[in-house]
Amino acid sequence: MPAVRDIETALFSLAPRELAMKWDNVGLLVGECEKEVHHVLIALDVTEAVAEEARQTGAELIAAHHPVMNCHWSPVQSLRNDTLQGHLLRKLVRDGTSVICMHTNLDAAQGGVNDALAQRLGLEQTEIMEGGEGIVRMGLLPEPMPVSQFLELVRKRLRPNGIRYVEKTGTVQRVAVGGGACGEYFEAAVREHCDAFVTADLKYNQFLDAGALGLCLVDAGHFPTEDVVCSVLEQFLTERFPDLKVTKASSHWERIQYYV
Ligand SMILES: [Zn+2]
Repeated sequence: MPAVRDIETALFSLAPRELAMKWDNVGLLVGECEKEVHHVLIALDVTEAVAEEARQTGAELIAAHHPVMNCHWSPVQSLRNDTLQGHLLRKLVRDGTSVICMHTNLDAAQGGVNDALAQRLGLEQTEIMEGGEGIVRMGLLPEPMPVSQFLELVRKRLRPNGIRYVEKTGTVQRVAVGGGACGEYFEAAVREHCDAFVTADLKYNQFLDAGALGLCLVDAGHFPTEDVVCSVLEQFLTERFPDLKVTKASSHWERIQYYV
C-alpha cells in the first residue's frame, strides 16, 4: 500500500506545488510521511465532522481542498483545545489522521477545480481566461440561452441551495467560471466578452458594477462551485492506486441556507 508521502507526490503530479499562490499552504500539512494508507477520505474541507468520519471509518488520510492550517485567513499560533482550529488539529494528531491539502494549485491545475466546474456546466472549448491568474476558465455553452435557462442549468448541475445573480439583457453563451471566491476577476471576464461569470462569495459592489457592465454575475456558493473537484481527486487516486480505498466524506455538505 502507498505511504502518505507517495500519495502527496501523486497529488502534486496532478496539481504541481508551483501553481499555488504565494500565500497558500499546500501538501501534507498534518501527519506521518511514512505511514501506510489503506483508506483515503476526500472532502472539500477538513471539518471536525470530517475528521471524526475519518476516525470512524478507519481512513488514515484525508485529502482536502482547503488548507487545514496556516493559510492567510487562519494563521496557527497555538494548538489550544479552546479554539476551533486548535481543537481540530489536536484531534487529527491524536487520531493519527494525516491531511493533504491541494488548494490554489488544484484551482489552476489542468483538470482541476475550474476545469471540472466548466465541464460540469457543459462548457465547450474551455480555455484559461486572460486576467484570471491562471485559475479562471472560460468556454462556450453549446448554444446561446436566456439568463433564466442558464440559471436553471447552474441549479441543476451544481445543486446550490440558492443563487444570487445580476440580470443581463440578451442571451448567455460565453461563460467564465471561478470556483470559490473569484469575484475579483469579474472585470477580466467583461474584458474577455463573457456573458456570464459563475463564482462565489461576491460583494454588493461587484454585483452593481457587473450589472452596469452587462455581465450576468452569478454567485452559486463556495461549496457548490468547488465540491465538483472531489470527484476529480477520487478518480485520480483510484486510478493511481487501484488497491487503495477512496471515498468521499458523507459528513460534509453545503451549510449555507437561503431563507426567502
Ligand atoms: Zn475555496
